[in-house]
Amino acid sequence: MFKTAIAGSLPKPAWLSETQKLWPQWKLQGAELAQAKLDATLLWIKTQEAAGLDTIGDGEQSRQHFVHGFLEQVDGIDFEHKVTMGIRDNRYEAQVPQVVAPVKLKGRVHAAEARFLRANTSRKIKFTLPGPMTIVDTVADRYYGGDKPGRIKMAMAFAELLNQEALALQADGVDIIQFDEPAFNVYMQDAAQWGVQALEVAARGLTCTTAVHICYGYGIKANNDWKQTLGNEWRQYADIFPALAQSSIQQVSVECYHSHVPPDLMALLGGKDVMVGVIDVASDIIETPEQIADTIGHALQFVPRQHLIACTNCGLAPMDRAVAEKKLAALAQGAALARQRYG
Ligand code: ZN
Repeated sequence: MFKTAIAGSLPKPAWLSETQKLWPQWKLQGAELAQAKLDATLLWIKTQEAAGLDTIGDGEQSRQHFVHGFLEQVDGIDFEHKVTMGIRDNRYEAQVPQVVAPVKLKGRVHAAEARFLRANTSRKIKFTLPGPMTIVDTVADRYYGGDKPGRIKMAMAFAELLNQEALALQADGVDIIQFDEPAFNVYMQDAAQWGVQALEVAARGLTCTTAVHICYGYGIKANNDWKQTLGNEWRQYADIFPALAQSSIQQVSVECYHSHVPPDLMALLGGKDVMVGVIDVASDIIETPEQIADTIGHALQFVPRQHLIACTNCGLAPMDRAVAEKKLAALAQGAALARQRYG
C-alpha cells in the first residue's frame, strides 16, 4: 500500500552539467561524458534506495532535456539549426530543433542507461519517455505541414518511434514505462481527441506496466507565473481523465500538493493506479511526513488505497541537489506515516 516513486527527472551533479537549468550544458565530452552520465545515474539509484523509495528511476541523468534527449537519436531532425519557438501554447520560449524529413530512429535511444539501471537495483524500475503530443509541441515542424493535420500526423509518426524504443526498454527489463505529457494540460481538447490515441500507439504491445505523467510543469518562473493565471480551481484534468480512463494506460501521475487541482477529479480515472503528487517541485521547502500523509488522506477520498502511489508533482531536474535529496527522503517517510494512519 502507498508505494513510492518519482515522476522522473532529478538534478544533475555540478560535475556533470550546469545546474538549475532546464537545458544545461554538459561539462564533459565523448567517453568521459558517457561514463559521467552513468556515474550520476548510480548516485541517484543509491540515493533513491537509501531514501526508501519502492520504484527507482535513472533520474534522466543521460539526457540534456526530457524531450530533446529522445529527439537526438531521431533521423529527420536538424539539430544544427535550432529555432526559437513559443512552446506550451506560447507560455515560454525555447530553442528547438526542426523536423525536416520523415522521422526515423537512428537505433536504440536509451539502452545504455536503462540496462545500467536494471543492473544496479533489484527494485522495480521505471523509465520515462516524452509523450507524442509533448514532442510535437517541443519541435519545429518543417516537413509534416506545420498545421493541425500535420501536427497529428507528426505525433503519430513519433508515437511509432516511441513504441519501438518502449518495446526495447521492456526487453531490457524495465517494469514501468511512463510517457510524459505536460502538453495534455495545455491542449485539453486535442489531448482527448487524438493525444490519448497517439499515446496508445506508443504503448502498443507493451506487457509491462504503462503510465502517463500529466503535470503543470517544472518549478520554473514561466510555469509558476502561468499557474497564477489559472484561477482557484484547476479543472484541466477533467477534460482528459475520461479519455484516459477508457485507455489501456494503467497508471496516471497527477499534480496534487500545493496545486489548485480539485482532488475529486481523480475519481474520473476509474480503476487506474493514481500517482498522487505529494511533493511540490516549485518550492525548496521540504514537506513534512505529516503534510504528505495529509495529502494522501485527501486523495484517499477519491482513489482506492490499493490504487494510490505517492509521487512527486513533476520532475526535480532544475532544483538544488541537496533539496531534492531531502524531498526524496520526505516522500518515503510521508508514505510510511500514511501506511500507519490509514493501513
Ligand atoms: Zn511534469
